[in-house]
Amino acid sequence: MPWIKQEDCTGCGICIDQCRVHAISMGNSTAHINMDICIRCGTCHDVCPQEAVRHDSELIPFEVESNIEQTRELLKNFESEDERRQFLGRMIKHFNKEKIVAEKSIKKIQTMIAEE
Ligand code: SF4
Ligand code: SF4
Repeated sequence: MPWIKQEDCTGCGICIDQCRVHAISMGNSTAHINMDICIRCGTCHDVCPQEAVRHDSELIPFEVESNIEQTRELLKNFESEDERRQFLGRMIKHFNKEKIVAEKSIKKIQTMIAEE
């Protein structure tokens, strides 16, 4: 999924003109993508002269840190060692479920590619 690194965007508007579904708008002199509208065509990434439209994978460290931060915050609700351990176990189950959903989705998309 594309995202715009705000500090690299000069607000030239090229991506806005090129987006076929009008998913990009200008706000505070930089471009922003509405992911509810974006069809993931990749055009904005290809046309940006500043390389401000970035790949999803670059967000992984930030998303991991966000998950850990959320876990730390929620952990504060539990006092006893038992409760804390059980809670952390539930968070592992939660992220494991997300991983399984992603893996199964990838397999089904690979099947779609094979059937194309
Ligand atoms: S093309 Fe790049 S620099 Fe120009 S508005 Fe879009 S993201 Fe910003
Ligand atoms: S990926 Fe395609 S649809 Fe999505 S914002 Fe970029 S140009 Fe628009």
